[in-house]
Amino acid sequence: MSDAAEPTTDGGPSRHPPADWQAREAALLGPWAMPAADSAGRIHDEPPHAFRSPYQRDRDRVVHSAAFRRLAHKTQVFTDYPGDYHRSRLTHTLEVTSIARTLARSLSLNEDLVETLALAHDIGHPPLGHAGEDTLNDLLADEGGFNHNQQALRIMTLLEQRYPAFPGLNLSQEVLDAQAVRARLPEAPPPLLEAQVVDAADSIAYDTHDADDAIELGFVSLDALLELPLVAAAASRVAGRHGQLGPLALRRAVLHELVEIQVAGLIESTASRIKQDGLDSPAAVREASAAGHRLVGHAAGIAAGKRELERFLFQQVYRSGQVMEVRQRSQGQLRRLFQWYCDHPRDMPPRYRQRVDSLGLRRSVADYLAGMTDRFLNRDVRRRLD
Ligand code: MG
Repeated sequence: MSDAAEPTTDGGPSRHPPADWQAREAALLGPWAMPAADSAGRIHDEPPHAFRSPYQRDRDRVVHSAAFRRLAHKTQVFTDYPGDYHRSRLTHTLEVTSIARTLARSLSLNEDLVETLALAHDIGHPPLGHAGEDTLNDLLADEGGFNHNQQALRIMTLLEQRYPAFPGLNLSQEVLDAQAVRARLPEAPPPLLEAQVVDAADSIAYDTHDADDAIELGFVSLDALLELPLVAAAASRVAGRHGQLGPLALRRAVLHELVEIQVAGLIESTASRIKQDGLDSPAAVREASAAGHRLVGHAAGIAAGKRELERFLFQQVYRSGQVMEVRQRSQGQLRRLFQWYCDHPRDMPPRYRQRVDSLGLRRSVADYLAGMTDRFLNRDVRRRLD
């Protein structure tokens, strides 16, 4: 894939010098970053694009996929809550991407690859968040189970149908590899730094915005959060900079500072680990990861603070009576709809029906249900089951 890009039929204006992106990457990437020119390529061979690097094409394919658009109407944590303040899976994804790009640029990593991985990281989630995932996993217990990371790989390689020449999105091997790591497939190669920063960005984003959404929806108070050391550290920085603030301004500033502390800390600790390990190539990164070196990670104090925040959110929010009640109700609906389509497979769209012979009925029904948004699922439940 390292040959200079020729203008192709699916390319655009050819006034750009060919392979401009190679010079750009050569100037910007650290030796530990993954250059697009060294990509292992795609499952289905394609001619190079006139002016986009392989990873830029990957990113665009993710953004233009139906699975990505549907994230707009999929639950992050809070199903069935009034108001439009709290995150959907799409806005969560965009926050993760924004944090991941900052990390990538600061660490001289391949920002296009990082952006692709961040935009794609949640496309395998079914409706109803983890409640939907757990239900489908139960229903497919005899067929290998269901998990959103494996489902993302199925979307990338099979389920998304947009191109006449191949099923799936035909993404670069490094994107599939990173997703295979997330899915914990035994054959997954050790992760590149580009994959590791996306996981870290995911955690920074959800710890912070789940806290924000939980306050907004009345699950916890800012005062209770301020008891946690990491949140208290953020608040004291805010106080040092702005003095006394009203409750809403304080909340916004503290949550902003919480992201800032984690991002700044992560850049510092990761940069020093890259230096310490003398990482001078993506191969060296893979070798260090294989040897169990945690390259992208928080310093001990921040890591402990995050664990405490996560424990707090788990008890007060994710396992609260209110969330559990909604969870049980919606899981029941998903189960009944699953059974309904098992009994009426002809009512699935043709592309899901056609796969019944090769994949089995239950897996095909699960693929159909997993692609639904929360909104579509609710309408379908009313249409089929009421
Ligand atoms: Mg996520």
